[in-house]
Amino acid sequence: MIRAHWKLFALALIVLITGCAPAHTPTSSPAAVTESPVTATVAVYAERRETMVKRTIEARGVSDPEVLSAMRAVPRHRFVSQEYEDQAYEDHPLPIGYGQTISQPYIVAWMTELLELEPGDRVLEIGTGSGYQAAVLAELEDIEVYTIEIVPELAEQAKARLEAVGYTDIQAKQGDGYHGWPEHAPYDAAYLTCAAPEIPEAIVEQLRVGGRLIAPIGTGRQTLVRAEKAENGLDRERHGAVRFVRMQGD
Ligand code: SAH
Repeated sequence: MIRAHWKLFALALIVLITGCAPAHTPTSSPAAVTESPVTATVAVYAERRETMVKRTIEARGVSDPEVLSAMRAVPRHRFVSQEYEDQAYEDHPLPIGYGQTISQPYIVAWMTELLELEPGDRVLEIGTGSGYQAAVLAELEDIEVYTIEIVPELAEQAKARLEAVGYTDIQAKQGDGYHGWPEHAPYDAAYLTCAAPEIPEAIVEQLRVGGRLIAPIGTGRQTLVRAEKAENGLDRERHGAVRFVRMQGD
């Protein structure tokens, strides 16, 4: 009985002390103890990215540690409109307007791995879209990224978005990527994020010998083609069926 009283007394004392807690907490920096909604959201998205990388990218065979850490780093939710933010870390394409889409994360990782980039490489992307894949490349060590988008509004939005998210070194322009970007050639690697009936000749010309090219090729059914430029042409490999938006323009 006496014990029970002591317990009650101790409990009352604790309540009294914690009730006085503000006197013991540093009142000058409440932000240090309470997480802001923005910080909380960033943490939630980082966790979703981690899950995305483990379950849909690593589990399906992408193993390059640099590519995986780039996929962990780029905030894909910043590359879609608010309406789709919540789906940003699900493994599927999402609309970005003008009938175009941001690519599925797994495909982005897979294509990036197939490019086999080395520090110091210069890469050309045809089809900036949202700017997401360009950002993934920019996360790799010492990679120069050039990207072209044919839809003027998308080109402008992607440029602004890349700047805002902090990818200030990516060179982006509006234009028909079918002709490549000869001013910065030769490239160590190039890739198309839109399907072409065949590999555009101008892009092959702008690759150095030993350079790699990844492209969805085909009008109906598409195949992901990886080609390496040799002295006397292209060595091609086919990497399975894919579905990309069609290349526009020439
Ligand atoms: N890499 C993008 C995927 C965009 S989808 C991303 O991560 O979001 C493919 C893009 O290619 C579309 O935005 C489309 O407008 C663009 N495109 C189509 N034909 C093109 C061409 N001839 N030159 C440049 N971009 C083109």
